[in-house]
Amino acid sequence: MTTATSAKATFARGVHPPEEKFLAEELPIEVLPTPAQVRIPLLQHLGAPCEAIVGPKQDVAVGDKVGEAQAFISAPVHASIDGRTARATVTTLPNGRHVPVIPITAADEQSLEGQALYDDVLGGEWPKEGLDEIEPSVITKAALEAGIVGLGGAAFPSHVKLARNEERPIEYLLVNGCECEPYLTADYRLMIEAPDSIITGALLARHATGADKVIVGIEDNKPGAIEAIVDAARGTGIEVRSLRTKYPQGAERQLSVALVGREVPTGGLPLDVGVVVHNVGTIAALARAVIRGKPLTHRIVTVTGNGINQPGNLLVPIGVSYRELIDHCGGMKEDAVRVVAGGPMMGFTVGNLNTPITKGTSGITVLTHEDVRKASETACVRCGRCVDACPLRLVPTKIALAARAGNKEVAESYYLTACVECGCCAYVCPASIPLVQLIRTGKVMLAS
Ligand code: SF4
Ligand code: SF4
Repeated sequence: MTTATSAKATFARGVHPPEEKFLAEELPIEVLPTPAQVRIPLLQHLGAPCEAIVGPKQDVAVGDKVGEAQAFISAPVHASIDGRTARATVTTLPNGRHVPVIPITAADEQSLEGQALYDDVLGGEWPKEGLDEIEPSVITKAALEAGIVGLGGAAFPSHVKLARNEERPIEYLLVNGCECEPYLTADYRLMIEAPDSIITGALLARHATGADKVIVGIEDNKPGAIEAIVDAARGTGIEVRSLRTKYPQGAERQLSVALVGREVPTGGLPLDVGVVVHNVGTIAALARAVIRGKPLTHRIVTVTGNGINQPGNLLVPIGVSYRELIDHCGGMKEDAVRVVAGGPMMGFTVGNLNTPITKGTSGITVLTHEDVRKASETACVRCGRCVDACPLRLVPTKIALAARAGNKEVAESYYLTACVECGCCAYVCPASIPLVQLIRTGKVMLAS
């Protein structure tokens, strides 16, 4: 079945923030000119960091491995341009993690840039037949060697989620095309411009995991993407479903409920209910890795927000700086006050624009004074709106209070670690209590 079903399913609770996608959704993907330098972080994913396998002053070509995974839950990293390495340094990513980086200065001649790069990543033919002849373990190994991680933002190493487990079979492979975070349009443009790469990747992932059924979920605010994916999926047995737009539908647990009615238990994984979820970008990167033998060296980043002069969807090398992308988009407007890595609901404020973008950077949102203006924090009025909005049925106000008081026991008893930091609670709080920041602080407290 390939037609988008008319029933508009969704999940319980959640919120409807202004979408603001109009700023960039009609802008075709543009290839960023090769920057003078990239800095490749050795930790761009959940799990263990990589170990550098190149030294300073070494010539590397785009796609050469520069950092090797040292654990099962890890992923290697690769050079994203042709050039020469320099001594490793350290940077602080927007999420606060200090990570070593390998600088690469660009060579005068680049083997892959401009239209050739676009074609190599997104264009050309993507086979849909004969893929079942590939050994499942070959697909999983290709994902590992290519350094593929979840490109929707979570950056979990994908080979772990692609591996077959006969004791815990996968019934549903869900392909996440929701892109529910406001402002961001990178996945939307990918679905419009390269839908065949997504379907090829989904067929490979189905074969690797042994899933019985593949469903692509796309919110109903993206009719063009639904049409493109339905067309590309014709004759493959992949189902495409239109979902009622709501935030955070792209979160794994919410997508599982919305698409197949399966609730993931608190503290559990989608795998526990026979489900695995991959983002459309991740799946397209898998297709490129298996079919073209290319590692994950580039990604699409939306540069958007009311504070940027010329929004865009850019195909960029991993490791390029935030500043380079902002400058390419005409710089910031005078009233810009905040740069966010990702979107406003789940993103982190970028303190230093020289920070490199990573595999998980789906967007850069530049907000203005007007966007961030809000009332000062007041006392909790016990309205319960945060509880009503939380898609995980947590009690955000209790968790945040416990975190603020440094009370680990109480915070844990209210399932602090189950919080996915979606921001719904803070979005609806009339007292402007920074619930998510407090919860993040609480997680750091628990880990210490
Ligand atoms: S408590 Fe966590 S999961 Fe629940 S709404 Fe707040 S940020 Fe989202
Ligand atoms: S939404 Fe804000 S004011 Fe209302 S109960 Fe939650 S924390 Fe308190």
